[in-house]
Order: sequence, then C-alpha cells, then structure tokens
Amino acid sequence: MDTPDVLVVGGGIGGLSTAFALSRLGLRVRVLEQAKEFGEVGAGIQLAPNCTRILDAYGLLDTAKARGVVPDRMVMRDAVDGRDLTALDLRDLERRYGFPYLVIHRSDLHRLFLDACRDAGVELLTEQRIVSYTHDPATAVTDDGTVHTAPVVIAADGLHSVARTHFADDQPVSSAYVAYRGTVPIAEVGRPVDLSEVVVYVGPRCHFVHYGLRGGDLLNQVAVFESPKAVAGLEDWGTPDELDTAFAATCDEVQAGIPRMWRDKWWRMFDRNPIPTWVDGRLALLGDATHPPLQYLAQGAIMAIEDGWVLAEHAKRLGTGDWDGALAAYQAVRPEHCRRVVLTARAWGNLWHLDGVEREQRNALLRARATDDYAFTDWLYGPTALFPEDEPAMFEPVPLVNGDAG
Ligand SMILES: Cc1cc2nc3c(=O)[nH]c(=O)nc-3n(C[C@H](O)[C@H](O)[C@H](O)COP(=O)(O)OP(=O)(O)OC[C@H]3O[C@@H](n4cnc5c(N)ncnc54)[C@H](O)[C@@H]3O)c2cc1C
Repeated sequence: MDTPDVLVVGGGIGGLSTAFALSRLGLRVRVLEQAKEFGEVGAGIQLAPNCTRILDAYGLLDTAKARGVVPDRMVMRDAVDGRDLTALDLRDLERRYGFPYLVIHRSDLHRLFLDACRDAGVELLTEQRIVSYTHDPATAVTDDGTVHTAPVVIAADGLHSVARTHFADDQPVSSAYVAYRGTVPIAEVGRPVDLSEVVVYVGPRCHFVHYGLRGGDLLNQVAVFESPKAVAGLEDWGTPDELDTAFAATCDEVQAGIPRMWRDKWWRMFDRNPIPTWVDGRLALLGDATHPPLQYLAQGAIMAIEDGWVLAEHAKRLGTGDWDGALAAYQAVRPEHCRRVVLTARAWGNLWHLDGVEREQRNALLRARATDDYAFTDWLYGPTALFPEDEPAMFEPVPLVNGDAG
C-alpha cells in the first residue's frame, strides 16, 4: 500500500469531516474505520452557526439545509408546568452570526461528509480496528498487525479512544443520566407540534427535546433522565421502566412524546475530564477522543468539525509540509476552547435538572432574560478561533445603558 500524506483513524463525523478538510488541500488522506461499513446510529443533531459557517466554507451548507430543517425559534419550557422560560429567535441569531441554526438527521450529516470524501478521492478503508499507535514516526497498527504509516496520524476514534491512552490514563465519567431517542413520521405523531421550533422542556432530573428533521417529514425526540439505578451503583441502569417513572410528573406535552421513544436502545451519558495535551510528535487526538461532552450545549460533533477545520486552516497557512507547525498551532488553540465547552455543558445540565426552590429561582432568572441577549452564546456561536488571542471572552460583559451605572 502507498503511504498517504495523512492517516485518520475513525470514520465518524469528526474523522470524515477532517479527512475532507485536509483532502481539499490536495493531501492524500486515508481513513481507517473499525466497522464493516461507514454509518451513524442515532437521530437528530443540532448545528449552531459556528458549525454552519464551516459547512458553508466547505461548500456543503446548501445540501445540509436541504436535508435538514432551519427552524425559526428555540424555546425552553418548564417540563412540569409546560410554561415558556426563555427563547432564542433563530432568524435574529442568523443575522447576528451570519449563518443559520440547522437541525439535521445525524446519518444525513454523516452521509454528507462521506460523499464529500468519496468525491474528493479520500481512501476509505473499513474493518480496520486500530489497537496501537506510535508518534515518531507516526503509525497506527491494526488488530491483524498491519502497520499504517504516514507523516501525521489523526486519531478520531471516539469516546472509548485507544489513542487517548497514549495521552492520559483516564476513563469516561458517568453522569448517571441516560438518553432515549426516537424519530416519528410527522403524520403519526398524534399531537400538534410546531416544527418551526426546537423545544427543550427542562425538569427535575430530566429533560425532553423535540424538533423536525428532513424538511419536516420526521419529528426527532430525545428524553434524558437521571437513572436511580445508576445513582445506587447498579449495573443494569437506564432501562425503559426508569424512563416511564422519570417522566411521570411532567406536563401533558412531554408525556405524550414518551411512548414514541425507541425502547430497544438507550445511550448512557458519559463525558471525560478535559486534558491539556492533544499532540505528541506526529500523533494528534480529535473529536470525542479528546473532548467528549455531555450533550447539553449540543456542541460535541461541532467541536469535532471545528477541530478538523482549524487543523486544515493551519496546514494551509503554513504549507502542507510543515506538520510540526500546524500541529503546534492546533494544540495552542483547541484544548482551552473545548475545556470550556465540556465544563460549561456539565454546569448547563445541572441548571436544567434543578428541583424545588432552585428550580423556581432558575425559572425566574431565565424568564428575566431578553430574547436578544446574546451574552451566553457569543463565545460559542461566533467564528471559531484559529489563534488563542482570537478566543472570545466566555461571557461578554453586559453593556450598561444610561442610568444603570447608578
Ligand atoms: C444524545 C446525544 C445528543 C447529541 N446531540 C448533539 C448535537 O445536537 N450537536 C452536536 O454537535 N453534538 C451532539 N452530540 C455529540 C456528538 O454526537 C458527538 O460528539 C460526535 O458524534 C463525536 O464524533 P466523533 O467522530 O469524534 O466520534 P464518534 O462518532 O464516536 O466516531 C468515532 C469513530 O471511530 C471508530 N473507531 C472507534 N475505535 C476505533 C478503532 N480502535 N479503530 C478504528 N476505528 C475506531 C468508530 O467506529 C466510529 O466510527 C450528541 C450526543 C448524544 C449522545
């Protein structure tokens, strides 16, 4: 086999989007995927403007829009009484950040990158389970002993990354929360649903999300709750009986969605503690392999896509021969941003799941927020930073209006 310019391990959204980004520079990229076929399981995914900006740069945004839904509004409601708490006007958000908020089936997004890779001539190999790596020279070794070599190896091998063991001696962190997903043809939903909205109902130790997919043909639903069995330390946690109990005290709109969740598969929610070093020699981590978040900010796949874009932008800027420079620039900017996302996602989840007086206090604070207050989204949805000095402050100070200064 010829030696490619780049090896990418893992053919998920992170690996394929990175392979495509690098192939656009004229590099010969090989992707090594352990599965028999390239594909994605799961349902919908939300793509904020910091991602649709990159899709646009790749020439893929129009196709993504055609396959997904561009909603008008995102609204957060209390899961117990069903009342509105706060909202984002997604049309105004698009004006602010220059790119839309999009929701899409994850298999459609994955297919978009897979097709783009095929069209760009990326070498796509399946049934390649990588069991070990070296960083100098960069190699990835399969379980049958085949040694793949390239000037640089990008490991995008997900939450249970083998490559991560080269960088950290850690394990995924269980949140004791579990997600059920489900898509329902819109004609079979059996209740009125406004598909111009992305809705999240937040409740004590649970939340429920729904939005449209595929031009409004499908309704995507996600039901997430804390598993009492997980909290008690039992192995068999997150089972459907726990799903029904967790949502028993929620409002009618949420309860109407619960019977339509898939009940034969559920996703236990893990993240990992942030790690500061992602690059060793010519081996680099990317995507969930390095920063798997809890999903509350809906930024996991986006961070992976951003990683690949940043790496490719530096490779382009420095010339594709200067991998040491490009990897150093990637290492300089991405870990800090992703650390903030992972830790903020944990805190955001805690806020969603409050009970009692804390829930009341949260509701009062969220209701007081102005719809056009973007202090909490600028650092996330603005342009992806290429250099540490471009990384925005986490929360822009709220400007004082005349008279407020006292
Ligand atoms: C309920 C839920 C909702 C979410 N919602 C959103 C959202 O709205 N927006 C968003 O941006 N993100 C969201 N995410 C997060 C997002 O799904 C992940 O962050 C993203 O898919 C990670 O992509 P990845 O390519 O890094 O990893 P993965 O998708 O895990 O891909 C890793 C790939 O590597 C392969 N692989 C693994 N080990 C090996 C090996 N040893 N050798 C070869 N190949 C290997 C795997 O088979 C897989 O194909 C959500 C996650 C969950 C669970």
